[in-house]
Amino acid sequence: MLGLKRASLPGLEPTRVPCVQCDRREYGLSWGDFCSICREERRIRADRVAKRVGIVAAALMAAWHLWRTPPNLTQRVFAAASVLLVYFVARRLVSRLLIEYLPKELRNRSVESRQDQNAEDPK
Ligand SMILES: [Zn+2]
Repeated sequence: MLGLKRASLPGLEPTRVPCVQCDRREYGLSWGDFCSICREERRIRADRVAKRVGIVAAALMAAWHLWRTPPNLTQRVFAAASVLLVYFVARRLVSRLLIEYLPKELRNRSVESRQDQNAEDPK
């Protein structure tokens, strides 16, 4: 209305908060949080491990069912459903725990090299 940009008003400028892992500054980040690149890398690493853990948990559950479940069709169907359920629950649980508790990698090389490329690239 007055032709003022929101960013030009004092006190309303959004601050760029540094990432806790790679020091890349990003808008809308809370202090002590990871930037979008680091969060995505952590999610990919956690999903890779969680997929394997889910497969192992489902295999253990399937082995237990083969050993203990009587050969009744209804019970076999429920056993198969429980194997699938164990796979997805274990995968989801492990993924969330790893995203939360994976150790920080200080000085992420891929982000640093990307910043160096941006610094060398004159506009
Ligand atoms: Zn980061």
